[in-house]
Amino acid sequence: MTGHALSIAIVGAGIGGLAAAATLRRVGHDVRIYEQAHAFARIGAGIQQSPNSIKVLRALGLEPRLRKLAFQPDSSLNRQWDTGEVTWERMLGDTVEQKYGAPYFYMHRGDLHAALADLVPDDIVHRNRKLVGLEETADGVTLAFADGSTADAGIVIGADGVHSVVREILLGAERPRFTGRVAYRTTFPASLLGDAEIDDCAKWWGPDRHIVIYYVNPQRDEIYFVTSTPEPDFEVESWSEKGDLDALRSAYKDFHPKVRAVLDACPDVHKWALFERDPLPKWGSNRMTLLGDACHPMTPYMAQGASSAIEDAAILSRCLEGVADTDVTSALQRYENTRKDRTARIQQVSRLNDMEKIKAEIESVYGYDAWSAPLSDASPSTPITDA
Ligand SMILES: Cc1cc2nc3c(=O)[nH]c(=O)nc-3n(C[C@H](O)[C@H](O)[C@H](O)COP(=O)(O)OP(=O)(O)OC[C@H]3O[C@@H](n4cnc5c(N)ncnc54)[C@H](O)[C@@H]3O)c2cc1C
Repeated sequence: MTGHALSIAIVGAGIGGLAAAATLRRVGHDVRIYEQAHAFARIGAGIQQSPNSIKVLRALGLEPRLRKLAFQPDSSLNRQWDTGEVTWERMLGDTVEQKYGAPYFYMHRGDLHAALADLVPDDIVHRNRKLVGLEETADGVTLAFADGSTADAGIVIGADGVHSVVREILLGAERPRFTGRVAYRTTFPASLLGDAEIDDCAKWWGPDRHIVIYYVNPQRDEIYFVTSTPEPDFEVESWSEKGDLDALRSAYKDFHPKVRAVLDACPDVHKWALFERDPLPKWGSNRMTLLGDACHPMTPYMAQGASSAIEDAAILSRCLEGVADTDVTSALQRYENTRKDRTARIQQVSRLNDMEKIKAEIESVYGYDAWSAPLSDASPSTPITDA
């Protein structure tokens, strides 16, 4: 790289924070991550990664590893909740790979997180550091943590998720909007299904709820499901919040027998409140910006939240490559301007959870390549265009 290594502090070691650490180190910057958790836990959840994300991960060298551990079905079925009628078969496998130049993976979320964590030296990840304050001056930012410690950096990236403290410090307190819906989700051994036959991958669309079921590895020995279920009174959001199996089974009792077989076999389940925000008016300040769910949290209905965070990481590294400390503000503005419209659009379409709208969007979502997409100019406060 040309120019000096910038000192960059990333708050949050989720998928977005780790991806950003990897892309920023790749262009020669000095990166540290501050994560509130004591350790990374492998919670039972699957994750879909589409070609737009895989193109970023490919440049980080992760594609061979992910190919080995991810499930790549030929297609994903969209089915009517009661009759099982297939309303849309979304082609995947070779079809998607040939069309978009990268594969579509279904995998365990913990496997993706671990792969990203392995790209980053352990000694730059500071665990048990819950950010509570930020003080920005002309020369840098001081981070303050709940344990009383502090750290200095030239740039701060808030990759601290939907309840982002960095966002709150930058833009003021505003809780994300609870959608009134919860995701029940878990992974469990497929052997527990006994003789029940299931699809490789299917989304079952009910009148006011849905469930997505897929395998998370090529051996088809671990299965995952995730629901969107109306529960307007529930608002806890925690990976460890247990769900009530009876309540879950009852919510899907009229669904097709193939769905009920999965819910009957599952030994336990987690429950996760679904939140979202409207697109933010701005993402940063002179020396700070946001990334991932911290700036564009979305409903999971297009499976694009983590993929968008990974795209952010690639664009951020392109904007900061070879940049001198004096030019940091315009580089961060260029990043924000480049990402804002696209992420706002995905947030909007995802919220609708409308099969036809999602169908219409696929080309532009999967076809995106964050390594070659044009970068915007660095003019301040580009308004979000009506998506
Ligand atoms: C049910 C469900 C299914 C989904 N399925 C998919 C899918 O199939 N495909 C897809 O691409 N996306 C999916 N998503 C979206 C995806 O999970 C998120 O978009 C993604 O995890 C966001 O990553 P992130 O790094 O921005 O935030 P997070 O994963 O939330 O990570 C934030 C990190 O910051 C840490 N942190 C928070 N506050 C502080 C603090 N004050 N100080 C220090 N550290 C802090 C947290 O501990 C955490 O480690 C799904 C989401 C849900 C809810």
